Amino acid sequence: MISVEEALEKVLSYVEVLEPEQKPILDCLGQVLAEDVYSTIDIPPLDNSAMDGYALRAKDTRGAGESSPRYLVVVGEVAAGSMPAQEVRPGTAIRIMTGAPLPEGADAVVRFEDTDEGNRKSSGGDLSQIGILCQASKGLNVRDRGEDIASGDLILKKGKVLRPQEIGVLASLGRPTALVIRRPIVAILATGDELIGIDQPLAPGKIHDSNNYAIAAEVSRYGGIPKILGIGRDSVRSLTEKIDEGLDADMLITSGGVSKGDYDIVKDVLAEHGEVGFWTVCMKPGKPLAFGVMKKMEGRRERKVPHLGLPGNPVSSMVTFEQFARPAILRMMGKKILAKPAIRAIIEDDVVDTDGRRLFARVSVTKRGGQYYASVTGPQGSGILTSMAKANGLAVIPENSKGVKAGELVEVQMLDWGEEQGEVKTLPIVSIVGKSQSGKTVLMEQLIAEFKRRGYKVAALKHSRGGMEIDRPGKDSWRFTQAGSDAVLVSSPDKLAFIKNLNHDLSIEEIMPIVGLEFDLVLAEGFRKSKIPKIEVHKKGLGDDLLCSPDELSAIVTEGSLDTDITQLTWGDTVAVADFIEKNFVSKARTVPFYSTREKG
Ligand code: AMP
Ligand code: MG
Repeated sequence: MISVEEALEKVLSYVEVLEPEQKPILDCLGQVLAEDVYSTIDIPPLDNSAMDGYALRAKDTRGAGESSPRYLVVVGEVAAGSMPAQEVRPGTAIRIMTGAPLPEGADAVVRFEDTDEGNRKSSGGDLSQIGILCQASKGLNVRDRGEDIASGDLILKKGKVLRPQEIGVLASLGRPTALVIRRPIVAILATGDELIGIDQPLAPGKIHDSNNYAIAAEVSRYGGIPKILGIGRDSVRSLTEKIDEGLDADMLITSGGVSKGDYDIVKDVLAEHGEVGFWTVCMKPGKPLAFGVMKKMEGRRERKVPHLGLPGNPVSSMVTFEQFARPAILRMMGKKILAKPAIRAIIEDDVVDTDGRRLFARVSVTKRGGQYYASVTGPQGSGILTSMAKANGLAVIPENSKGVKAGELVEVQMLDWGEEQGEVKTLPIVSIVGKSQSGKTVLMEQLIAEFKRRGYKVAALKHSRGGMEIDRPGKDSWRFTQAGSDAVLVSSPDKLAFIKNLNHDLSIEEIMPIVGLEFDLVLAEGFRKSKIPKIEVHKKGLGDDLLCSPDELSAIVTEGSLDTDITQLTWGDTVAVADFIEKNFVSKARTVPFYSTREKG
């Protein structure tokens, strides 16, 4: 039996990135750019107005206000798409529409709402003049030439997956086509004498072929072009014929006929065509899996077409598709991120896994109160396709784990999330809690030093019930606060301090955006009410009871030993505590969508 990872590695070793093709940008959605795209133009091409209003010289509005209008002579009008016919000289203005080029001489635009134009119009007044009701600064409501894109800049890098926004950027550059890695053609073949087409009425002993459709839809979803070959019968002749048709494709996916049943002759036919391997993969559903390469002569050249033989059971074929065919298709398309995005969720049902294989349980994931929960979607037989239809995730129950109990954290692959969504930067966070005098701060100090030694950029957060030492009487920051300022920020070349008056106790969720995402680890002291992972420091002299209830804790750091199932770490063994944090929170952080943001670039 081989592991899921070994099987995937083997599959991927046979697939290559396909060649690029030039095509209309609108056909490129989801494809990988195969060229660096530079701009040959400035965008916007000219300074222009961001508002409907009056283009003028900021100087001419000095002292203007609601009750002290500055009157300017209107010398013209310019609409988007045309060039101004006049220039703005001192004491004049030009009526301008959003997107219209800024006239020579003007350096600001005042919106209609900040002029007396409305009044003039309703009272049938003179429109050859305009009253400006606000003082404009230079550049007000002006979009600078090249502020978005400057001519000569590298705008989109090779390897970028094109989303609607990139297609918009290509259009704005005036590029009707782009060079992208082509989409793979994936031939799909269902096998079995029991199968009939979906347009046929059921006959005794027969079932509709659903695999061809589910697999074709999967292929499309991940960017490939499905080519359904139809249904192959359980005979060498029928299968040989069908498989021959599939050899023009970039990949062949069959379903059924790979288990030990009597009619399972797919393997014999495949062996005729090339190399074929049969694997027992350590997973459930989906144990029997065939993989090989089929050879076809094209003139003198031999072409190799990878073949993936999925199990026939509808759920098994979909789950194995997700684990093996999906990454292969993405690789052919030139994508770099092949891992299915995963989250950590609390499982709401017990799941038993008796035979030691990695179990992919179909679950429905919901998010409640900032936490993901996964509940199993009913009976899990590998023929029960509706369990897949009800699911938006696959909970991954590790091999040899005997299963999980309701309430435990599990990793869940999110079926409907795009792979790129997995590429979010996440920031691991752990809080050290404990009774007063338990030694929290000492442990914090030790951990900070230990993680610095390991090369981490660490942020430490402290929850304080009382006052704050940093706001020291006599200091400038204190004096500003005394004077009534609601927030004081002190910035120096090497430090930043920010003191802000609050009307409530901030949650971690509110604090994290202020801290930012530039750190490798956040260690918090206190914050016991928050939902972040917590480690409690326990000191013998303070009693055997804990501050937090055991189900809130990830571990306990103690001088002795406590009668509990939670992981216990020894007080003083900072390396072990840091190892625990590293293993459980840092290395898993990539899959925990907590305080996440998309990485730049
Ligand atoms: P096999 O792997 O060929 O032994 O098939 C295992 C189970 O999956 C059998 O119950 C088949 O009837 C079922 N099955 C195989 N192929 C399909 C298909 N294309 N659509 C629906 N069920 C299928
Ligand atoms: Mg069969």
